[in-house]
Amino acid sequence: MTAKLIKGTEIREEILSEIEKEVKEIKEKHGKVPGLVTILVGENPASISYVTLKIKTADRLGFHEIQDNQPADVAEADLLALIDKYNKDEAINGILVQLPLPKHIDEKKILNAIDPDKDVDGFHPVNVGRLMIGGDEVKFAPCTPAGIQEMIIRAGVETSGAEVVVVGRSNIVGKPIANMMVQKGPGANSTVTIVHTRTKDLAAHCKRADILIVAAGVPGLVKPEWIKPGSCVIDVGVNRVGEKKSEKTGKMIPLLKGDVDFDAAKEIAGSITPVPGGVGPMTITMLMRNTLKSLKYKLGIQ
Ligand code: NAD
Repeated sequence: MTAKLIKGTEIREEILSEIEKEVKEIKEKHGKVPGLVTILVGENPASISYVTLKIKTADRLGFHEIQDNQPADVAEADLLALIDKYNKDEAINGILVQLPLPKHIDEKKILNAIDPDKDVDGFHPVNVGRLMIGGDEVKFAPCTPAGIQEMIIRAGVETSGAEVVVVGRSNIVGKPIANMMVQKGPGANSTVTIVHTRTKDLAAHCKRADILIVAAGVPGLVKPEWIKPGSCVIDVGVNRVGEKKSEKTGKMIPLLKGDVDFDAAKEIAGSITPVPGGVGPMTITMLMRNTLKSLKYKLGIQ
């Protein structure tokens, strides 16, 4: 059997055009567009490329966007003052601080200073709490888990009553996606197990999964014999395992592999996400959707 590919690149385009359409409608009716500020501290090349992509996407959607670059030695107090400024800025609906921050800055303090109603990354403790309560209480689900759930829904995978096994218990992927899948509602109502480095028999848990979500950061961790035939496999892992020549530019680019042995797994699973081109493109997409949501909450049109 060859699994159906769940392509994040295609789902991204679908969602971005939905957002673009809604942005136009809101602009016509209310004269407002979503406003997003990205704060980048220092010149970490990976952070620069993430921020550039976020800005480009926001631009394409007709958002008001500000890229606020700060030097690597910016004082913590100055960064807090900057966040305060954007918290009060009526034209800004989403504040994103690109992580990691330099060592002299307390990351937690910075993230907690963001107004929870502008926390489009969904990392503020208030939003983590809202996600735990579920239902109408949720304002911003964190972007990668939100993207995973959206892919599962759009791929038409049944989640109600499904055995979901999540490999990994991080605050940005494992714990929130497990929490989301157990809630009442569409794309959820699942029976969820979280497994991690201290789990006794990882294989036994994975083998019962109707939906297996893997976010461990270990290339090829999940073996083909751990996959239940016909199941849905969501591989969140992005691991640099070497370099390869780009077909487009001829330049050397990172060779990326997921946490699942894709070639073997696709012969067993019913549906599967590739790496790259699977979960990856969904994160920025959901950031854009959260920023739009933030404006809609403000306008009372949710
Ligand atoms: P993390 O290192 O914070 O957490 C990894 C989790 O996996 C831990 O809870 C750990 O207990 C578990 N784990 C690690 N090795 C294991 C093993 N051998 N057996 C069982 N459990 C194990 O990582 P993270 O931030 O959650 O990211 C996980 C992966 O997802 C990484 O490859 C990361 O690059 C990728 N990621 C991708 C996106 C995206 O595509 N948009 C976003 C976030 C993370």
